[in-house]
Amino acid sequence: MIYDALIIGGGPAGLAAALTLGRACRRVLLCDAGTPRNAAATHIHNVVTRDGTPPAEFRRIGRAQLAPYQTVEVRDTRVEAVSGARDGFAVKTATGTVKARRIVLATGMVDAIESIAIPGFAEAWGHSIYQCPFCHGWEVRGRRWGFLALDAQGIEHGFPAMLRSWSDDVVVMTRSAFDLPAEQTAQLTRAGVRVEPRPIARLAVEKQRLTHVEFTDGERLACEVLYAHPPQRQVGVVAALGLDLDPLGYVKVDPMTRQTSTPGIYAAGDLTTRAQGAIFAAATGSHAAAMVVHDLAMAAMHAAADAQGR
Ligand SMILES: Cc1cc2nc3c(=O)[nH]c(=O)nc-3n(C[C@H](O)[C@H](O)[C@H](O)COP(=O)(O)OP(=O)(O)OC[C@H]3O[C@@H](n4cnc5c(N)ncnc54)[C@H](O)[C@@H]3O)c2cc1C
Repeated sequence: MIYDALIIGGGPAGLAAALTLGRACRRVLLCDAGTPRNAAATHIHNVVTRDGTPPAEFRRIGRAQLAPYQTVEVRDTRVEAVSGARDGFAVKTATGTVKARRIVLATGMVDAIESIAIPGFAEAWGHSIYQCPFCHGWEVRGRRWGFLALDAQGIEHGFPAMLRSWSDDVVVMTRSAFDLPAEQTAQLTRAGVRVEPRPIARLAVEKQRLTHVEFTDGERLACEVLYAHPPQRQVGVVAALGLDLDPLGYVKVDPMTRQTSTPGIYAAGDLTTRAQGAIFAAATGSHAAAMVVHDLAMAAMHAAADAQGR
């Protein structure tokens, strides 16, 4: 038995891909390791019809809506390796090896939280330290906000100035980790954002809620909400595929087909872009799946033509 498509990852991207392939009567296996990126969050926001849904409930609904499509199988298992080529991939999972004509990568990204060596950071991640104000901003609007800048680039792109949409009290913390050009400091000041260059000793966190930032000189700054973009990395199975990546480390896909640099391997969701969000991931999952259906149909048509020509 060979699956038409094997989807790796059962988050918004993978679930949407499975739905699209199932509705196209394709034989699909979705494998999910059960380690979603938003595991620390209590609710998903900014997703039309699902605003405020707990992440586990979102996935439960996604899986329940796959149930009527009998050609779709879902397994809670980790994919360990992918080998072979278009029309004949071999996918090694924790429970055995299966074959598939096409692969859809929907593995998300890993946030390297451990690389932020500030006591308190990991505890508050997803509870009062967030990556995105569109996801977690409205609930904490008007409070004392900070942005932990890991490099000058995060500031250049205007992220801290944007935070002023939600709060009048925004402080950028550079930790003396890099020099902020005077022009950028002036721009932030004009946008109503303060700059705090002192190194941080620790974050004061009570029951996963940030209360203060404590600097190495012992002074404390009241801060209830912090935004940060920890470095991200691809999961091992994707990294091992040797696909073309963009300069930021995201998997490059053809914008029309969502095919990666390896024929027959498609990708959707966070692993392909820094513009990350559940609804974006779901949209690209559906897009990739539709292109897989198209590709399978074209391949069958060409095979039939070849057979007739013989
Ligand atoms: C703390 C936090 C809060 C967030 N809140 C929001 C929010 O409120 N609204 C919003 O829109 N976005 C939010 N996001 C972003 C959102 O979670 C992601 O954009 C979205 O989950 C991406 O979907 P995805 O399907 O690409 O990846 P994921 O949801 O990360 O799913 C990837 C899946 O692939 C599986 N996987 C990985 N490797 C393997 C393997 N080898 N074999 C099998 N399975 C594998 C994982 O177990 C996981 O289940 C948040 C992110 C974080 C970190």
